[in-house]
Amino acid sequence: MHIAVIGGGLAGLSALWHLLQHSFVQATLFDIGGGASSVSTGLLHPFPGKEALRSLRSEEGLQAAKILLKTAQEALQKPIFEEGGILRLAVTEIQKKDFHLRSVEDPDAIWWDEAKVLSLLPQTTLAPALFVPKGITVYSKRYLEGLWLACQKKGAKLEKREVYSLSDLKEFDAIILTAGSSTLRFEECKNLPLALTKGQALICRWPERLPLSLVSQGHITPTEDPHLCQIGSTYERKFSSPDPDPSKALELLQKVSLFYPPAKDFKVEEIRSGVRIAPKIGYQPLIQKIHPNAWVFTGLGSRGLLYHALLGKKVVNEVLKKWKKNYHVIPRTITGEVWRS
Ligand SMILES: Cc1cc2nc3c(=O)[nH]c(=O)nc-3n(C[C@H](O)[C@H](O)[C@H](O)COP(=O)(O)OP(=O)(O)OC[C@H]3O[C@@H](n4cnc5c(N)ncnc54)[C@H](O)[C@@H]3O)c2cc1C
Repeated sequence: MHIAVIGGGLAGLSALWHLLQHSFVQATLFDIGGGASSVSTGLLHPFPGKEALRSLRSEEGLQAAKILLKTAQEALQKPIFEEGGILRLAVTEIQKKDFHLRSVEDPDAIWWDEAKVLSLLPQTTLAPALFVPKGITVYSKRYLEGLWLACQKKGAKLEKREVYSLSDLKEFDAIILTAGSSTLRFEECKNLPLALTKGQALICRWPERLPLSLVSQGHITPTEDPHLCQIGSTYERKFSSPDPDPSKALELLQKVSLFYPPAKDFKVEEIRSGVRIAPKIGYQPLIQKIHPNAWVFTGLGSRGLLYHALLGKKVVNEVLKKWKKNYHVIPRTITGEVWRS
């Protein structure tokens, strides 16, 4: 069977990869480039959000993501992620209370007092922090490149063109729609309970590379280039254009300087912007059948890295459920052959 995936961000590439694990599937990706995934600041850990509450199914999400990260890294033959942990600095009284509570109730969240923070990061503002040893920093653009390469090696085809409607792809047996913020432009999706939030990030030159990602109100993450860091990110619910807007983006420097003062002198090399799509209520992403042979997988919000792998596999299982019944599948490792029953 031949399946079309519309959109080659985290959601689309994860779906594509999981499709290609089935020997009876051929897959074509339709993509026009851009999207939120290439702008992501690369934070992958179980405690996102203001209160650092553990996200649902975060351990499964993290483990599934690690498998894809390693797959992409192997395909690209370049480092794609760092596993040194993530530090959430508690600079406000509310953060101190929330983060400390998390450390008491969850063994994956470790409380560091001010002295411990300063011993590792002498230039930070005096504050305690929540250390998340399982935290990973992903080099987003490289990751997408590596994951696509891995898919390509498994036989995925790419069509660099915009799809306007599901009916453009009638020749396919099934469609998985992973068009990120453009999902709402498809007739079948326009009433889904999803909202858009623009995010901007700065690529800056820094004099000294930090050993891990620093997160508080805003964040500073290392990139694949030791001389550059990424500072993120804005959450703009009202915006007139998805494009970079320096007047808003440059505020990020002030914001992160509150917990890492050297940042106010960082040289900005580039401003990036993207649009997140998230459920109007809560944060659980959406997988839904929108047509007899089409499914949408979207709403990853700011947890794209945490959920893309786990849910990419789930959407593929949903899509293939009905088809698997019609095929006798011989595992690829034995013959690679497939017969229709
Ligand atoms: C500034 C910023 C920082 C972020 N930081 C993090 C972070 O640290 N950690 C984290 O987990 N998440 C982060 N996120 C969120 C994360 O980036 C998203 O959750 C994730 O990228 C969503 O992936 P997606 O595949 O659903 O959408 P997208 O990445 O937007 O991909 C959609 C793709 O579909 C294609 N497309 C769209 N319409 C069509 C069409 N009609 N035809 C063909 N192709 C089409 C686009 O070209 C694009 O490639 C951040 C987001 C932003 C904006």
